[in-house]
Order: sequence, then C-alpha cells, then structure tokens
Amino acid sequence: MGTLLREKQVVTSTCPIEARKGALEVLTMLRDAGYETYFAGGCVRDRLLSAAPTEYDIATAAKPEEIRNIFPNAKSVGEAFGVMLVRNNEFMYDVATFRSDGEYKDHRHPTNVTFTDAKHDAQRRDFTINGLFEDPVEEDIIDFVGGKDDLHARIIRAIGDPHQRLADDHLRMLRAVRFAANFSFSIETETADAIREHASQLSGISKERIGGELRRMLTHQNRGVAVWELQYLGLDVPILGEQSILTAPTRVGRLPASSDFPTALAAWIIDRHSSEGDVQTIANLWRTQLLLSNHEFSALQEILTLHTALATWETLGVAKKKRLASAPRFPSTLAILQAEDRPMFVFVKQAIAKLFKTGLAPDPLLNGDDLIAIGVPPTSALGTILDAVYDAQLEGGICSKEDAISLAKVIADDILSDNDR
Ligand code: ATP
Ligand code: MG
Repeated sequence: MGTLLREKQVVTSTCPIEARKGALEVLTMLRDAGYETYFAGGCVRDRLLSAAPTEYDIATAAKPEEIRNIFPNAKSVGEAFGVMLVRNNEFMYDVATFRSDGEYKDHRHPTNVTFTDAKHDAQRRDFTINGLFEDPVEEDIIDFVGGKDDLHARIIRAIGDPHQRLADDHLRMLRAVRFAANFSFSIETETADAIREHASQLSGISKERIGGELRRMLTHQNRGVAVWELQYLGLDVPILGEQSILTAPTRVGRLPASSDFPTALAAWIIDRHSSEGDVQTIANLWRTQLLLSNHEFSALQEILTLHTALATWETLGVAKKKRLASAPRFPSTLAILQAEDRPMFVFVKQAIAKLFKTGLAPDPLLNGDDLIAIGVPPTSALGTILDAVYDAQLEGGICSKEDAISLAKVIADDILSDNDR
C-alpha cells in the first residue's frame, strides 16, 4: 500500500529470512500492545506463490499516533492516510492502519481515508490476489476477497466493481498487466474489459509512474506477454502516445531472459515500426514520452544504429565488421537479430567467431603521440589517420608498429598535400 504516496523504500539487505524475522518482531510488538495486526498484500501473495518476499507491509488496527507510541522513531510517510514507516535493523516496514479510501480526486489518490477494520482494508486493495492477510503466528491466511481461489486459478481480478476500481486509480491498469505477465496469470474478463474501456485515461497518470511500471515489465523475462497484453488492451496508445498497433511483438518475446530495458525498448520499436523505416525518430518520441534517462536513450539509439548496420553485414569489409562486432551494445543487437532471423544470426555468429581469431578489437598499434613524434601536426587529421591505420590493422594488412608508422606517413602525406592544394 505504500505506493499510495511514494515509491517503496529500498532495503539494504535482501535476505528474506531476516526480512521476515524483522517483520514478525514489529507485528508482535503491535499485537502485544493489543492491536489486531497482519502481514498484508504483496508479501502474502508472493509467499503463497513460493517466492520469498523481502518487502513486508504490515496492516494494523493501531492508529498512527498509537503506532508512534510503540515505535517512537516511526516516520510518518502519510499520517493522514495511516501509513507509518518503522525501521527494524536494516529493514524498513510500512505499518499502516486498516483503512477505507474516500473519494478519488485525481484518478490516483483518495481525498481522505477512514480508519476501519481488516475486512474493509482488504476491500480497498486493487486485486484479489493482493487483498490477502497473513497471520504468521497462527500460520493462517485471512481472505475476505476470494484471493486464495484466484491465486490458485492464476487470475487477476479487481476487488469489487472493476469499472469503478480502475476509474478510481488508473495506475491499477498497468499493475494488472504487470502481475498477469510476471506471474503468468490471466486477467479475468470483466477486469480486462474495464481496462480496455479506461485505457485511454491512463494519460492522466504521471510519466514517471508509467515509465516505472513499464521498466518493471520490460526487464522481466515475461516481457513478451506484457507487451502483447498492453497492445491487446489498448494501453500501448497512452503509454507510447501512438496509434494502436496489434502486430505481434515477436522480437520482444524472444529476447534472452536477462535483457535490459534499452534492449527491450529497441526490440519493441523494431517490432512496431521497422516496416515504416525511421526507428530513430520514434526513439526520440519515446524518449520524451517515457522520460528515458540519457543513459537509456543513448543505449537505445546505439542498439538501433547497430541494428541498421547489421542489416548490411554481408556488404561490409573486415574492419567495419570488426568495429561493429566490438561495439559496446552489439550483444543487444545480436540478441534482437537472433529473435528476428535465426539463420542470419547463426551466419553472423560464425563470421564473428572467425574474425575473433585475428582480434576483434586489438590494442591499436599507433596512438596520437606516435603520430606527433613522426612530425604529423596535431590537427583534426590525427583522428582520420589513426582510424585509417587501425582499419588496416583490423583488416590484417599491417601487423607491427613499423608497418603502422610507414602507413601513417603515407596517409599523412596524402592528407596534408590534399590540404595544400
Ligand atoms: P510489488 O511490490 O511486486 O509491486 P505489491 O502488490 O506488493 O507488488 P506494492 O506497491 O508493494 O505492490 O503495494 C502493496 C499492497 O498495497 C498491494 O499488494 C495492494 O494490496 C496494495 N496496493 C498497492 N497499490 C495499490 C493501488 N494502486 N490500489 C489499491 N491497492 C494497492
Ligand atoms: Mg510490494
């Protein structure tokens, strides 16, 4: 529930056993003071899915001031909403009073909340699988919303009326897709219909939030399913600011599991736009739309440039092939090629293995100082000469420093006498 007000705190340790032990201590202190208290939401779901949560949310009957009486150092991260942050060893826990949300003001945040009981607190949560409580002492799951059955049947279902719940908070549409894809669940029909109906309204949600959800989907190994669902439900339109496209995202779907965000974005751009040509223009639009960082954007641009160059592989000389194959982002580009044209991928891989034998990116035989030492004036021509000598080295035309110096002299004479003319 912490996402109501902010991103979740990052814990300094990821040890699931320690995280649970710490959560149990916090829960016990609240119970010892007489307050009904449970683990709640995602941590309960993940444990039932046999994942080991490292992030625990604790839901309690204690009001914020009562939580502070027990944990004097508790930080208020939204006292009006009943959310306090309690530190125990290196872990931070959201401790939140059972609440019902009031009216939603901006399709994201309720205007007020009313402190209630566990049952009503379950009902204000988004999906049935996220509406479970765990009593870790009795080893019991408390289920007011049918979440256990849906977990078992692998279904994402809005709690209550899906239209109302998704209209209240549009971010829930993206959460539905993320959970469905990441857990390989399906979205129940009425919930899916409601998403399709409200999809266009997602543009009201901040780009940071949308980008954050998209990052989590595209860096997960089930990214192909996520992208397919986004397109199928019409969420690609507000997310990307484009027309709906239903073309199967085959490249995205076939990427290696550990592919990063820029690689997945590049694969998705090519899946959606390669037939029209200018993918770099689209990348520029996505940069603004998804608030890509400079690092993400330059990686995306490089992958797309390399992908275009790779299409001309057979026409390239040895030096160009070696330069291409040793570019930092070439592995991402090769992963996309593998997803789109397996025979070509095998062909390129074999060619690279051969090129590798003579060095893909050997240390250059010459540097700028060497050129200056043989009397080349320190002008912009230095870079051109070094590039040409390095090309000759990559082609295997020169193998020693002496060869390199002789060649550099010839090229330098050429360039400098051209300049004199
Ligand atoms: P994950 O941490 O993997 O994103 P999560 O379900 O734990 O999944 P959190 O953002 O940590 O997500 O939220 C914890 C719980 O708070 C959820 O399980 C859910 O019960 C509730 N919750 C979170 N966001 C919303 C929302 N937008 N609307 C309603 N309930 C929400
Ligand atoms: Mg969580």
